[in-house]
Amino acid sequence: TIRLADVRKSYGDYDVLKGIDATVARGEVVVICGPSGSGKSTLIRTVNRLEEINSGSIFFEGQDVHAPMSGRDLNRLRSRIGFVFQSFNLFPHLSAVDNVAMSPIRVKGVPAAEAREKALKLLDRVGLREKAESYPAQLSGGQQQRVAIARALAMEPPVMLFDEPTSALDPEMVGEVLSVMKSLAAEGMTMMCVTHEMGFARDVADRIWFIDGGQIIETATPEDFFKNPKHPRAQRFLADLR
Ligand code: ATP
Ligand code: MG
Repeated sequence: TIRLADVRKSYGDYDVLKGIDATVARGEVVVICGPSGSGKSTLIRTVNRLEEINSGSIFFEGQDVHAPMSGRDLNRLRSRIGFVFQSFNLFPHLSAVDNVAMSPIRVKGVPAAEAREKALKLLDRVGLREKAESYPAQLSGGQQQRVAIARALAMEPPVMLFDEPTSALDPEMVGEVLSVMKSLAAEGMTMMCVTHEMGFARDVADRIWFIDGGQIIETATPEDFFKNPKHPRAQRFLADLR
């Protein structure tokens, strides 16, 4: 589904991504972890072209993500790749249901009534049916993040990207967001998740990519990664978590 080949990216003369080669298969859940500043966010943002790359290529379902394309084609591409950020980025002036319904109406031309109906189903799925008419400011962080997930799902993307979706949340709200992500994974969604939640990684990931200094220096199943990390830097990273 997603294939990265020798992806390189620098800011000025600072190399952030130093040749990333990796594949995410359909239905696979990849957890990306590694130290702060190692390039995790940059990497995941290149996949839906929120960041440009300097060289290499990224293919999403056969399409070259970084090929020259019109703004319209780029929007169409992005609408097929759900993205959930650390900060929830909901539209403050729209209710939960309108946040979720907006893109299908605006981008896909879905009739408003139909989009709202589907939005209510999605809010139900993330456990927020009763908050449909609430505005973001009236919701907790965990609730806002679940609305953000529902909003991404409204476009029916075959892939979801998450960049530390729980790290801005109070601890008691982390679980509700992880459990939504867990159920998505169980339904077969292809996912790339940057997260420090190692319990989630252990339970849900098919593969872990450990990134350090702009390179993926280890990929492993969670069993192997947690029991028997091979790279010294991965060993140190795990030791520091304990
Ligand atoms: P964290 O765990 O703290 O979120 P990260 O692994 O996501 O870290 P990135 O945000 O990808 O790291 O950043 C990788 C490196 O690139 C960092 O050294 C960062 O300072 C640098 N960087 C990121 N964005 C920019 C930018 N717009 N201009 C210059 N340098 C940048
Ligand atoms: Mg980051």
